[in-house]
Amino acid sequence: MNATLIVGACQAGVQIASILRERGDTEPIYLVGEEAHRPYQRPPLSKGWIKGELQPDDVILRSREWFAERDIELITGDRVVTVRRDADGMGTAMTEGGREIAFGRLALTTGAAARRLPLVGTDYHGVHYLRDADQAITLQPALAEDRVQNIVVIGGGFIGLETAAVARGLGKNVTVLEAAPRLVGRVVAQETSDFYLAAHRRRGTQVVLDGRIARIVGGDAIVQGSLGSVTGVELEDGTVIPADLVLIGIGVVPRTELALQLGLDVAGGILVDAAARASDGRTVAAGDCTMMPNPYPQGVGGRIRLESVNNALEQAKVAAASLLGEDAEYRSVPWFWSDQGDLKLQIAGLSTGYDQVVVRGEPDSEKFAVLYYRAGSLIAADVVNHPAEFLAVKSALTKGGTIPPEVAADVTIPLKSAVVIPEAVTA
Ligand SMILES: Cc1cc2nc3c(=O)[nH]c(=O)nc-3n(C[C@H](O)[C@H](O)[C@H](O)COP(=O)(O)OP(=O)(O)OC[C@H]3O[C@@H](n4cnc5c(N)ncnc54)[C@H](O)[C@@H]3O)c2cc1C
Repeated sequence: MNATLIVGACQAGVQIASILRERGDTEPIYLVGEEAHRPYQRPPLSKGWIKGELQPDDVILRSREWFAERDIELITGDRVVTVRRDADGMGTAMTEGGREIAFGRLALTTGAAARRLPLVGTDYHGVHYLRDADQAITLQPALAEDRVQNIVVIGGGFIGLETAAVARGLGKNVTVLEAAPRLVGRVVAQETSDFYLAAHRRRGTQVVLDGRIARIVGGDAIVQGSLGSVTGVELEDGTVIPADLVLIGIGVVPRTELALQLGLDVAGGILVDAAARASDGRTVAAGDCTMMPNPYPQGVGGRIRLESVNNALEQAKVAAASLLGEDAEYRSVPWFWSDQGDLKLQIAGLSTGYDQVVVRGEPDSEKFAVLYYRAGSLIAADVVNHPAEFLAVKSALTKGGTIPPEVAADVTIPLKSAVVIPEAVTA
């Protein structure tokens, strides 16, 4: 018997289990997730969920019947705490609940946890993080409370800005504090950052760039053994921004505890090769917990960690193939989306190493694109409120094509018709 243990029951873990069955694997599959919920999609948490528009079934990835029909044993609400492997590759894992699971094949899809803000005051009542369903379930009614009018969002990345947009849509006074000189600076060009700064300000959100936080302040009263409620966020210059609720969204830390127990190489994530194999050559890992060779055909070298649904699903396909003993290599054009209120951002490709940017359309119209080039070739695009243009870019990149910069700037020419596929690719 060559049972598969998959630790982490979310996008990547469910995808691996699904593919193993699709490919005819009949060995036992154990899919273990520490969260009490059935596997669900995280993206809606910072969008429709905290707005109060969604029910649990709207975010669930697969029904109970789906797992039963495929004979995938889904164990929720239990955490794998120890895992070991013998020299012959057979292994045993133990869960917190006392369950022992023997396996021959192992997949780590343990994801990431919200990065904690290392400052005084984060334990005040009313200070939130948003990585999982339990946190969203707590945040949603708190945001809706009438008493809660002043919201401070710490971190101007995607989760912070999505939450800020929802809070502003609920009519709250919202301030976003970003430590860097621009919003989402790790991912997008200055032009896209400038657009989001203007768009959020247009909607009445206060945005503070280069905002250095000293501490979170709150009432001294002890409420049920914990500190009182948050009242504000103090900046290093002494300014205090009033807050009835604080959302901290300052990135994530990959979950590598089990990989370290197994002696696998870890550096900013579980190090895997293009076949999603960890350093022991037999454990696979996929999704937010991994650090991998850049899978993007047009990408520049080095290892990267991609935090996106698309990446979790694509890398999981390769991980499943490796578990089945097949040769597979992860090569794919990454894509991502972020919905900030009525602003839909879609990103195709990776802009790392770009040397030219073309802005297509007028950012103030809130329907435009920023195209990134390296040595004259298209490598990525940020597209706002224009799904057709996003699809045109994604399709061009997937085919190894480009869109000449001078044509890209001309909004009278649809991007779809401007794609040039090099002869070497079409031959
Ligand atoms: C609020 C929010 C909004 C997002 N919005 C978008 C978006 O708009 N677009 C997009 O592309 N991406 C978005 N993402 C990112 C996307 O959800 C992640 O990239 C994706 O979920 C990664 O999937 P994963 O399976 O690798 O990891 P995860 O989804 O993190 O799942 C890992 C699971 O493993 C469990 N686990 C860890 N250790 C153990 C253990 N020892 N035992 C048992 N279980 C364990 C964890 O509890 C978790 O449930 C968003 C993420 C968040 C949090």
